[in-house]
Amino acid sequence: MAQTHTEKVIEVHHWSDTLFTIKTTRDPNLRFRNGEFTMVGVEVDGKPLMRAYSIASSNYEDHLEFYSIKVQDGPLTSQLQHIQIGDQLLVSKKPTGSLLWDHVKPGKHLYLLGTGTGLAPFLSIIKDPDVYENFEKVILVHGCRRVEELTYQTLITKELGENEYFGNMVKDKLIYYPATTRDNFITQGRITTLIETGRMTSDIGLPDFKIEDDRFMLCGSPAMLSSISELLNSKGFKETRKGEFNEYVVERSFVAT
Ligand SMILES: Cc1cc2nc3c(=O)[nH]c(=O)nc-3n(C[C@H](O)[C@H](O)[C@H](O)COP(=O)(O)OP(=O)(O)OC[C@H]3O[C@@H](n4cnc5c(N)ncnc54)[C@H](O)[C@@H]3O)c2cc1C
Repeated sequence: MAQTHTEKVIEVHHWSDTLFTIKTTRDPNLRFRNGEFTMVGVEVDGKPLMRAYSIASSNYEDHLEFYSIKVQDGPLTSQLQHIQIGDQLLVSKKPTGSLLWDHVKPGKHLYLLGTGTGLAPFLSIIKDPDVYENFEKVILVHGCRRVEELTYQTLITKELGENEYFGNMVKDKLIYYPATTRDNFITQGRITTLIETGRMTSDIGLPDFKIEDDRFMLCGSPAMLSSISELLNSKGFKETRKGEFNEYVVERSFVAT
């Protein structure tokens, strides 16, 4: 049996020279949990060329969405960035991953810390009503180099709050905290620095991190993951591993070469 579904592209949005979003049809048999990733790709010379992609749509939506980088000379994305409505996209039938909100111990505040396209799994998670039912506050932190990379702001700051089913919970509980490292912006600095200096919690009006209350989900580059994990470890937080649920979970958004 084929390992992939062949989906049809229904929308492509180019945010910038380096970022774009693809929406496709969704085979009704594809099941996943919000925060998971799957393999996505196209056929090249008769063979599938696949890469891991977080699923940016939520598991109750009838389409699939992927938020992608354009890597110059990247084997897949140098092609994928030219994909058009009506084209085919291969999507693996077996989503998986460790960014699951209930794979951390119960807590009060759920921090979603993402850099670059590491935002993608959190787009799925911030549309999940269960997340709002289980945490008092959900804090989406998106770190990028440039302001133009702070994508999806209309969804995050407007559309989610208007959702007829869970909009009120979003208005009450979702805190969006974007930050840049290069461009001038209201919040400038690396996520680690914003945490270390206490600026993040003071800006959003929440107390300093406490083991009993705060939970974290991390998605970004290997360097970002190791610096934030180190920082959290130094404060006594532990990563969930091998079925032992702790205070934070981690997913790579790409593998450095
Ligand atoms: C679990 C997991 C989930 C992922 N989810 C996404 C996702 O939702 N969106 C997405 O765009 N990519 C995601 N990636 C990365 C993706 O698998 C590919 O690496 C990316 O699409 C580029 O493919 P490529 O063949 O063009 O280049 P590759 O040969 O795969 O990558 C070339 C180099 O480009 C850099 N790079 C790759 N991906 C990124 C990225 N996303 N941001 C910054 N630099 C990058 C790295 O230095 C990498 O070594 C994920 C990777 C993993 C492991």
